[in-house]
Amino acid sequence: MSVIETDPVAKLKAQVAAATRMLVMEGLLDYSGHVSARIPGRDAFLIQPGTAPRSSVTADDILLVGFDGKVIDGNGRPPVEIPIHVEILKARPDVQAVLHSHMELAIAFTMMRDVKLVPMRARAVRWESGIPMDLDPSHIKTTVQGQTLARSLGPHHAALMRAHGLVLVAEDVPALLVDAVHFDENARALMTVLTAGAQPLPLTPQERDQINRHEMREFHVGKLWRYYIDKARTAGVVDGKEALLLD
Ligand SMILES: [Zn+2]
Repeated sequence: MSVIETDPVAKLKAQVAAATRMLVMEGLLDYSGHVSARIPGRDAFLIQPGTAPRSSVTADDILLVGFDGKVIDGNGRPPVEIPIHVEILKARPDVQAVLHSHMELAIAFTMMRDVKLVPMRARAVRWESGIPMDLDPSHIKTTVQGQTLARSLGPHHAALMRAHGLVLVAEDVPALLVDAVHFDENARALMTVLTAGAQPLPLTPQERDQINRHEMREFHVGKLWRYYIDKARTAGVVDGKEALLLD
């Protein structure tokens, strides 16, 4: 048995590092932004160092950070915007993984008068409870800012951050990556309709109910996680041995 199979923290580190690189590969993360994962049963989580390039971060780089924002294990300093992850993980015991990204299309929908980002595509039923917007346009550097953002997110699975980015929350790292892909697809769909000068036709409550009746989230997440691992392996973003461990 490998270390990854026997040590859940080692597996989580590998997932956080690989998901970060795969999100860069997909254009959903860039020079900034981060993925975090809660350590089950502890007031602590995994996240990359603030200055490590997102395009090459490895499991060995990943820091173990406490809910006080201090590094428990690992070399380097956490990201400056660590209060995003601390305060959301504290406020939402149901959340196991958090993404903060400066996703371009998400930001665009924080800068439009009278236009709201709503579920257009089938997979966007994930956000049918709402996509609130946090109104603080500055970087989230303080506990109070983090708490305000967590309150803006409330019980939802996504929140936009005015002129800055977004946060997504999910039950694990693979689901977080898949949500990021679908969030971007949905934002692109609405932007395409608006760019065409057409009137958007978001999913109706009846259509969302129908989609939810057929939803197989766990199956879908597993399928896409394996697809992106394979795509990343082919592109040289994940090596063959790592791919086997992540699958
Ligand atoms: Zn940011």
